[in-house]
Amino acid sequence: MSVANALTVDVEDYFHVAALAPNIHRDSWTSREPRVVGNTQRLLAIFEQFNVRGTFFVLGWVAERYPQLVRDIAARGHEIACHGFSHRLVYEQSPEEFRDETLRSKNLLEDITGSAVLGYRAASYSIVRKSLWALDILVELGFAYDSSIFPVRHDRYGIPDAERSPHRLSTPGGKVIVEWPLSTAQVFGLRLPVSGGGYFRLLPYWLTRWGLNSINRREARPFIFYLHPWEIDPEQPRVSAGWLSRFRHYTNLDKSEDRLQALLREFRFGTARDGLAQLGLLAATD
Ligand SMILES: [Zn+2]
Repeated sequence: MSVANALTVDVEDYFHVAALAPNIHRDSWTSREPRVVGNTQRLLAIFEQFNVRGTFFVLGWVAERYPQLVRDIAARGHEIACHGFSHRLVYEQSPEEFRDETLRSKNLLEDITGSAVLGYRAASYSIVRKSLWALDILVELGFAYDSSIFPVRHDRYGIPDAERSPHRLSTPGGKVIVEWPLSTAQVFGLRLPVSGGGYFRLLPYWLTRWGLNSINRREARPFIFYLHPWEIDPEQPRVSAGWLSRFRHYTNLDKSEDRLQALLREFRFGTARDGLAQLGLLAATD
């Protein structure tokens, strides 16, 4: 059987993004033009066209306002997972704040769908060395897996020497959680983040494709790919920000949808939960 890669979506709006956070005050979120419902519906239509199911890490803030969107995602057979509530970075929260908001989001998603939420992904991959304590809280709250660790060097996230493949990870408190780190390709001893988001838009498609192929074929492992609904929305309102943030957020928005279709044609995808079950790291779903 070929490798089942995980297709994942972080369901949030363009104004939630960490790269733009210094320029968008939280108090202004409710007065901004919402785009997340329309963009997520477009993603659902594309996934349906390719008969692909994926995992949607939904932000609690979005689920609270648009519960029908969460129901629509689940009704099409996708996995609902948790992206926290507020999109605050984990390492900027106290453990108590983190526990409260993560539980609030998990409960909300479970109330809406009537199913257990097993997966978690932190805002901007903010489980880093100094916030590994969050993994203990995830286990306590009943999460079976996490996909928040990015084994690269970056100004806002990353554990550069973290394990690259899905694995059982021991937490600082002596518990165990399954971790599916964001995928990187190995190139001459370097780790190249080829697994989605800004990298998918900024790197040439051939390089993404080469990197993902090298994970599937040379390493014979599945990769986990991620994107955001706003990444297929070139019409989104522009926010004034510094050049680096603008570069990261706006480059190639108009190319993402075509690239996504190419990716869905070339690789085999499923949910993160099923991928981890196939690897024997989680119990299989019925
Ligand atoms: Zn996010």
